[in-house]
Amino acid sequence: MTTNKTNGNTEKKVRKIIRRDDKTVVVTSGEESNGHVTIMPGEKVKVIPLGGMCEIGKNTWIIESQNEMVIIDGGLAFPSDGMPGVEIVLPDISYLVQNRNKIKGLVITHGHEDHIGGIVPMLKQFDIPIIYGPSLAIGLLEEKLKEAQLTDKTTLIKGRPRQTFKIGSLAFTYVRNTHSIADSFSLIIHTPAGKIVHSGDFKFDFTPVDGEFFDVYTLAKAGEDGVIMLISDSTNVEREGYTPSERSVYKRLEEEFHNAPGRIVITTFASQVHRIRQILDICQKVERKVAIIGRSMLTLATISRELGHMKFPDGLLINLDDVNKLPDEKIVILTTGSQGEPLSALTRMAFDEHRQISIQPKDTIIISATPIPGNERAVSNVVNALSAKGAHVVYGRDAGVHVSGHACKEEQRMLLNIVKPKYFLPAHGEYRMLVLHGKIGVECGVDPNNVFLMENGDVLELTNESAKLNGQVPAGIIMVDSTRIGDIDEQIIEQRHKLASEGLLSIMTTIQNGEALPEPTVEAKGLVLAQEDTTHGQFLTDAKKTVMNTINENLKKNIKDIEQIKEKVKAELTKLIHKELKREPLLQIVILESK
Ligand SMILES: [Zn+2]
Repeated sequence: MTTNKTNGNTEKKVRKIIRRDDKTVVVTSGEESNGHVTIMPGEKVKVIPLGGMCEIGKNTWIIESQNEMVIIDGGLAFPSDGMPGVEIVLPDISYLVQNRNKIKGLVITHGHEDHIGGIVPMLKQFDIPIIYGPSLAIGLLEEKLKEAQLTDKTTLIKGRPRQTFKIGSLAFTYVRNTHSIADSFSLIIHTPAGKIVHSGDFKFDFTPVDGEFFDVYTLAKAGEDGVIMLISDSTNVEREGYTPSERSVYKRLEEEFHNAPGRIVITTFASQVHRIRQILDICQKVERKVAIIGRSMLTLATISRELGHMKFPDGLLINLDDVNKLPDEKIVILTTGSQGEPLSALTRMAFDEHRQISIQPKDTIIISATPIPGNERAVSNVVNALSAKGAHVVYGRDAGVHVSGHACKEEQRMLLNIVKPKYFLPAHGEYRMLVLHGKIGVECGVDPNNVFLMENGDVLELTNESAKLNGQVPAGIIMVDSTRIGDIDEQIIEQRHKLASEGLLSIMTTIQNGEALPEPTVEAKGLVLAQEDTTHGQFLTDAKKTVMNTINENLKKNIKDIEQIKEKVKAELTKLIHKELKREPLLQIVILESK
C-alpha cells in the first residue's frame, strides 16, 4: 500500500523572514519538501496521544521517528463539574519535558483553544525550535507568546494550503479542510512507515462562508497513493447524516434580525469566525451598529479582519458606552457567554449584574451555540432568567441559529472512503464515541484488527507493514488555578469536595503548663449553626470537651509529641461527629504550646 518514492534530497530551503516588531519573528516559509520520505522497512514510528482520547479537549499528539519528536497541536481543556475552582486543564507533558532534546517542532491544525491553548505552558518548560500553523492560529498564538514574554522560545511559521514542509526526518502536507474556525487544516504526515492522515477537526462544508473549499482532491490523491493510517475526529459520531453548512444559519439569523423590534443581543463562541463574519454581514444589511463584548472575541475579530477572514467597514463597530446613544432598533450587542459562564457578560445581564446593559422586554436574545456537555444547566439558568425579563430568547438545537463544526456519521464515512487507510485510529472523542467511530471504520473496509482504540499516553508502534500498541508514557491532567500551573493535585480537589458537601470544623487550642487551656476555639462552617440550637444539641460544647479531655488524658500518659496528640484528637472528634451529626467534615486542628 505504501508507495512513497525513495528520494530524500530534493528539499530546498526557502526562508523569508518578516520582522513584525523587535521581538517576534514570523517566517513565512520554512524548509520546503516534496513530501518524499524514504520508506524504511521495519523502521518504527511511534504515534502517541497525550490528550484528546476518551475526552473532548486538550488535543496533543507526538509523532516519534528516528529519535526525533514532532508535536501535533498543544491544547487545553475546560474543567468538568468535578473540579471546583479549576480554570483550565492541561495534559501532563512530562514525557516531552524528559525528551526535550528530541523535540524538533510543532504543527498546528487550527486555532481553537483545545488545539493551541497548551502551547504557552509547553514553552515555559522547553523550547520548540519551530511551530507551523495556519495564519490565523499563528496570529492568535503570537498574541499569547507576547503576553507571556515567550517570543524567544520558538519561531512561528505561517503554513499555506498544499504546502509540504520538513521537520527533522518527517514531512507534513497542509490540506485545507472546513471547520467552525477559519483557516483550518488536515495533515498528511510523511513518515518512514508511510503516510498518516490526521483529519484535524473537520466537517464537509461544500458551501463554505469564506469560499475556502475542502481540498478533497489532495486527500483522495494521498488515499490513492496509499495511506497507512487515518487519525480522525469522532466528536459527532452519535449523529446520523451530515452537519449542515455554516451558510444555513444565515437565513434564520437574518429572519430574527428583521423581526427584532428592539436591541439584539447575540452570543456565540469567540472562536466562531464564520458565524461572527455572518452576523457582521447581516448587521450591515439591516443597518445596525455592533458593540462587541469580550476580549477574546474582539481579538479574534481584529486578527481575522487583518488576515481577510472577515470583512467589515470601520464604522460598523461602536463602543459599549455608546449603545444608549442610538435607538434600540439600531443596536446589536455581540457577546461571549454562550456557555452560561458565571462571569460572562450575558450571564451578568441575565441576573441584573451588568453595569451598562439591563435587559428589557423588547430585546431579542440569540444564543447561536449549543451547550458543551456539562454546561446545559448553566445555559438553561441564563435562558430562564432572560425569559423572565420578558425578552424574546432564541436558543436550542431546533432554532436553526447554530450548526456544529464537526462531521456527522456520513461525513466520517466519506473521509474513510477517500483516504482508504490500512489502520484506523478514532480520536477527539469520549470512549463510547471512539468505539462507535471504530465500527464505522470497519463498515468502511478497515480490518477490525486494524482499528485502535487508544487512551492518552498509549504508544502505537507503526512500521510500513504492522501496527501494535506497545507500552505507555506518562499521561494525565494538570489542573490550573488562576495563573499557576500544577498547583492543584487530587488531594486539593478532594478537600474542596469535602468542604462543599460536608463543611469544615476548625479547632484551636493551647497547652500551657502541661495542660490544655479550658476554652479551645471551635468554629464550624457549613456544618452546624454557630449558636447552639435544639437541632444540633450541644455539639459545639461536646466538641470542646472532647478536645480538652483527649489532650489532657494523653498528657497524663506522658505523650508529649504534638503531632501524636493531634492524631488522637482527630480520632476522638471524628467519632463524636459521626455519633452526633452523622457527617464527615474537613477537620482543621491547631494545637499550640505555650511555655
Ligand atoms: Zn476545533
